Amino acid sequence: MKTFEYERATDVDDAVRRLAAEPTAKPLAGGTNLVDLMKLGVERPDRLVDVSHLGLTDVVEEPDGSLTIGAGVLNADLAAHPAVRTRFPVLSRALLAGASGQLRNRATTAGNLLQRTRCVYFNDVSKPCNKREPGTGCPAIEGLSRELAVLGTSHSCIATHPGDMAVALTALDATVHFTTTEGPSSLRIGDFYRLPGDEPERDTNLPVGAVITAVTIPALPFAAHSTYRKARDRRSYAFALASVAAAIDVDGDVVRDVRIAFGAASHKPWRASAAEDALRGGPVTLSAFAAAADAELAAATPTNQNAFKVPLLRRLVVGVLAELTGVDDAAGPTNGRAADTGEAAA
Ligand code: SF4
Repeated sequence: MKTFEYERATDVDDAVRRLAAEPTAKPLAGGTNLVDLMKLGVERPDRLVDVSHLGLTDVVEEPDGSLTIGAGVLNADLAAHPAVRTRFPVLSRALLAGASGQLRNRATTAGNLLQRTRCVYFNDVSKPCNKREPGTGCPAIEGLSRELAVLGTSHSCIATHPGDMAVALTALDATVHFTTTEGPSSLRIGDFYRLPGDEPERDTNLPVGAVITAVTIPALPFAAHSTYRKARDRRSYAFALASVAAAIDVDGDVVRDVRIAFGAASHKPWRASAAEDALRGGPVTLSAFAAAADAELAAATPTNQNAFKVPLLRRLVVGVLAELTGVDDAAGPTNGRAADTGEAAA
């Protein structure tokens, strides 16, 4: 493991200053992904700036109904927060579907947002990888791609964002707040994450040296009727093969409003806007749910190893919306694959 400096920041501005002073510096919070990547030689910072003592650990219910989540709130604490459990259960369930109990007790909100892909080539420094070393190629496209993306891919990279929390935050249209040497700023989560394009080395549009301070979720009353479902190879401590976060507002037999996001499907948590558009104002039926999923998945470009993700996502969409609306889903949501809503994880 390469040697590095360790510095503990005293406040957000101090952290920003320390990060700006060393171009390869990285902020360190829970370290549940960054330290692993440093051991593998994938991340090689010359300086770690410890941001775990900045006091960003509050979850605040704002008067306008929005929720402000401090960047340092632990995943376990966020999942258990009463406001999250009752008003945004999709977020609680996504968090509980992620990692293990030990990791959730250590990992933070900001760290979860910034975790990096688990593509096997990215994590193996003996292999080429455009994301780790731009211009070296993408062996996954013709190689091991079972876990990788089916939407928004490029000729440079087909990696996925590996997390669960950000999928729920995408359905909830959250905003990420951060501070740079220029001062405070923010990005809506749909603009925070990016597709690989010709620059797969960039996971997000977060400026270099920025310190994430908070995430806000706007008021969304029907999010009280929301859930997250994750299909994976085992019931806990495994990354998603595909996942769906959804909230739905029904008026009689008609869909008044809906939010859907896919996980493990793309380089970014994938807001399923085409599916949402197809559902709004339409009937609350299984065939309408399936048609909406098909509308979204028409753009999929899977490899021969991950083509199964397309019908799997379709079944997850139908299953989740059936669960939320009470419409009978006799076929089952995942065709027998391991799937859960997070409560039994770890
Ligand atoms: Fe690297 Fe992306 Fe290709 Fe994986 S999919 S090998 S992360 S460039």
